[in-house]
Amino acid sequence: MAHSVVNSTCNYAPANTYGHECGAPAVFTAIQRSDRTADGMYFGARCAHCAAIKGGENSRVIRLVPRDESKHINLWR
Ligand SMILES: [Zn+2]
Repeated sequence: MAHSVVNSTCNYAPANTYGHECGAPAVFTAIQRSDRTADGMYFGARCAHCAAIKGGENSRVIRLVPRDESKHINLWR
């Protein structure tokens, strides 16, 4: 099964940027539900600035936690 550790750079793509991700060093992991992973969880990376944004791609975030490569692994179906 393919898997990937949460990104080291921020995945947040502001509205109207056509999916262009921020790319700043990530300090938080944004935990979301997903039907694309085996465990139903998706771990996205956030810099401090983007972690504080309300709405947009953050509207689906369940929890924001300190980024941890040993725990935040996306298990792709
Ligand atoms: Zn960012």
